[in-house]
Amino acid sequence: MMTTIKGKKMFIGGRWIEKLNTMDVCDPEDNSIITTVPKASKEDMLATIKMAEEGAGIAAKMPVHERISILNKAADYVEKYHELFANTIASEGSKTIKEARGEVSRCIETLRLSAEEARRINGETIPFDQMPGHENRIGYYYNFPIGIIAAITPFNDPLNLVAHKIGPAIASGNAIIVKPASLTPLSALLLAEAFDDAGLPEKVLSVITGSGSEIGDTLVTHPSIRMVSFTGGLETGESIAKKAGLKKLSMELGSNSPVIVLDDADVDDAVNGSVSGAFGAVGQNCLGVQRIFIHDDVYVRFTDKFIQQIEQYKVGRKKDEQTDMGPLISEQEAIRVEQWVQEAIDEGAELLTGGHRDGAFYEPTVLTNVTPTAKIAREEIFGPVVILFRICDLSDAIDQANSVNYGLQAGIFTKDIHQAFEAIGSLEVGGLLINDSSDYRIDGMPFGGVKGSGLGREGVKFSIQDMVEPKVVQFKL
Ligand code: NAD
Repeated sequence: MMTTIKGKKMFIGGRWIEKLNTMDVCDPEDNSIITTVPKASKEDMLATIKMAEEGAGIAAKMPVHERISILNKAADYVEKYHELFANTIASEGSKTIKEARGEVSRCIETLRLSAEEARRINGETIPFDQMPGHENRIGYYYNFPIGIIAAITPFNDPLNLVAHKIGPAIASGNAIIVKPASLTPLSALLLAEAFDDAGLPEKVLSVITGSGSEIGDTLVTHPSIRMVSFTGGLETGESIAKKAGLKKLSMELGSNSPVIVLDDADVDDAVNGSVSGAFGAVGQNCLGVQRIFIHDDVYVRFTDKFIQQIEQYKVGRKKDEQTDMGPLISEQEAIRVEQWVQEAIDEGAELLTGGHRDGAFYEPTVLTNVTPTAKIAREEIFGPVVILFRICDLSDAIDQANSVNYGLQAGIFTKDIHQAFEAIGSLEVGGLLINDSSDYRIDGMPFGGVKGSGLGREGVKFSIQDMVEPKVVQFKL
């Protein structure tokens, strides 16, 4: 069971470590301090990596049945303390308590999926006799763990995105060092506690707290690190990719996801999907809806219903069961969003609803008449702001949807299978949802983007594929 003391320590190779140098973890709702956590130094990071070097050997020797058992026990722990985990997410992050509970349930699913996938890390026999002169050779390859994985995670899903790295790493017999977002380290520390309780051998897992810009380079450039699994913004991801050197990279980055509503769409469905897809987690969601392309014939009907629903959205305290949307992660972020919206308005955009800020809170906001080249239409807003565009047909929508440097997921609402297949073939994304918004994911599907949205795929089985390497064994008879 978590103690408040453990919340103040970091988890280094199986030990809970306190430091004199600390950083505050605040509730963005009112800036109150929840607790403090250690602010690790470069020396702490080097010591953590040294421990993981031993941990990699221990993890690789762990029999698969032990990995399965540990992952399931960690999942049991999260299940047992479901409400504590949800409260932690809803305290340090932006999510409402209802959203936080959903994330905890998904974390349990991610850990159980990791336990299941652990038994499916197979190899294959190799038909060496495919080459003349090699008839007397037999052999196979098997997949071995790559060693130490550096996992760097963002603030917006502070638990499940950490589970998406720890679960597959343990399943595939690797050691892992997690550097959670500085603003939301508590959920990751709680998850470390679940693995500690589950009996994970020492040195296999560390959750080190501190500033990414101060200790990040030491982690990602270290030669003992064989893979950097990063989830976060494009700018940080690109800078890490440049520095990392000869390592595997998994880059789960941002987006400004499009949704297309064609003239034959079920407009009510499209509105429902787009509202929750745009404003869930205060729009701080990598696959959140940012740009909606609506056919001329249904534009007015869609827009009226969309605005009507948004105006009923309840913005308020995160732990109030009635609240639909809480504050952004910080007042600074809310100010940035406010500035981007103002800039768009100054350039001629029309504000249909929202646009007001109160501290870290920002109203659900809808803009129209935004030029496709405006910053707000090209970059990732990562806040509760949606832009509506009129389109005359599918190809117009596809051209505009593809015109940005992102491509994580997209949604299209249509009853016409031919239009759906046209979109499947033409949209530059890692996932396309037909008759749903871009904001759809289950933890067992491949998830990731193209262009500036990233490199590689997560979704337990797919992460595991990145975390192992084949070793060939050949017998000459
Ligand atoms: P961020 O890029 O600011 O930070 C992400 C992590 O990187 C944090 O842990 C941070 O401390 C660390 N970091 C910062 N500088 C570093 C450095 N120099 N070296 C190493 N680590 C460093 O992102 P954020 O604001 O926390 O999260 C929001 C972003 O994450 C958005 O762009 C969002 O779309 C993206 N995201 C993507 C996915 C996905 O699966 N594709 C999921 C969630 C969030």
